[in-house]
Amino acid sequence: MSEQKLKPKVAFYWCASCGGCEEAVVDLAEDILDVVEKIDIVFWPVAMDFKKQDVENYSNGEIAVSFINGAIRTEEQLEMARLLRKKSQLVVAFGSCSHLGGIPGLANLYSREDLFDTYYNKLPSNDNPRKILPLTETETDKGTITLPEIHRTVKALNQVINVDYYLPGCAPPPDLILNAIQAILENNLPPLGSVLAPEKSLCDTCPRKDSKPDKILIKKINRISLTEIPPDKCFLAEGVICMGPATRSGCGERCINANMPCRGCFGPTSAVEDQGAKFLSALTSIIDSEDEQEIKAILDSVIDPTGLFYMYSLASSVKRKYQDFK
Ligand code: SF4
Ligand code: SF4
Repeated sequence: MSEQKLKPKVAFYWCASCGGCEEAVVDLAEDILDVVEKIDIVFWPVAMDFKKQDVENYSNGEIAVSFINGAIRTEEQLEMARLLRKKSQLVVAFGSCSHLGGIPGLANLYSREDLFDTYYNKLPSNDNPRKILPLTETETDKGTITLPEIHRTVKALNQVINVDYYLPGCAPPPDLILNAIQAILENNLPPLGSVLAPEKSLCDTCPRKDSKPDKILIKKINRISLTEIPPDKCFLAEGVICMGPATRSGCGERCINANMPCRGCFGPTSAVEDQGAKFLSALTSIIDSEDEQEIKAILDSVIDPTGLFYMYSLASSVKRKYQDFK
C-alpha cells in the first residue's frame, strides 16, 4: 500500500457561513504545507473540485475527520452534515456558526416569511414587481430547476448531528487549528464533546485585566464608536460593553489588541450554559444605582441588546434552541 493511502482522510465543508472559516485554513500559510503532507484532503469543495458523490463513495467511517463550518439553514446543508457524519470517525464543528449558530443564528429573531418579504420584496435595491420568492421547484421550458429548502430556523451543528469536538471562533485562529490537527494526528484528544480551547474566560487572559477593578460600577453605557478608550483600560470599567466576562479565552485577544471590545465569538466556557444571560447578569451587577427607573434607563441605552449579547450564540441559547426545525 502506498504512503498516500495511509494518510488520514480529512474533509472540509461549509454550510451557512461567510467563508471566513475557509480563509482561516488558508491563513495557516506555510504551515498548511506541513498539514497536507500528513493528511489526505478528500473533500473541500470551496478549494477543489469535489462532488457529493465523492463522499458517498467512501465507506462509513472511512474519513478520519470532517471539519464542518457554518450553521444549518437549508436542506442541502442538513443532508451534507448527515452524510459527512456517517462517513467520518470524528466531526469537528469548526468556527462560531457551526459551534453555536453564530451570526446567521440572529435570523431566528424573525420568521422565514418576514425574512423573505424583506429580502425579496421590501429592500429598495430590489426590482421584483411580480413578488417572486425562492421555490424548491420551478418548471421551465428546459426542465425543472430545484433549490434546497430553506428551513424555518438556523441551527448549530450539534442540533442536527452528533459533534465530537468544537473549534471556536469567528474564525478559529491558526494556532488552535494546528493544535487540533496535531492532536487528531497523534490521537491525543480530550474527552468527546470538548471545545478545543482553554477553559479560562477572556478576562483572565486579557492584557487589560489589571485595569479592571474588583468591583466595576458604571453610571452610563458608552458606545465604542463614540468613545475614546486608552489602549490599556478595561472596556467594561469604562462603560463600554465587552463580552470578556462571558467568553472563553484562546483567540489571542484579537479584538482587544485592536482596541475593540470582545463580541463573544468564542462562546462561553463550559461552566456557562447561556452566554447572553451570563453577560446580562454580569452587566446588571455593575450598574451603579439603586433607583429602578435609573437602572432601567441605563439598560435601555444598550442599542440592540439581543444582537449584542447573543451575537454568536442565539441559536444555541436556552430560549431559542428548542424551536421547530422546519
Ligand atoms: S471586560 Fe473586556 S477589556 Fe475588561 S478585562 Fe475583560 S476582556 Fe479585558
Ligand atoms: S476578542 Fe472576543 S470577539 Fe474578538 S476574537 Fe476574541 S473571542 Fe472573538
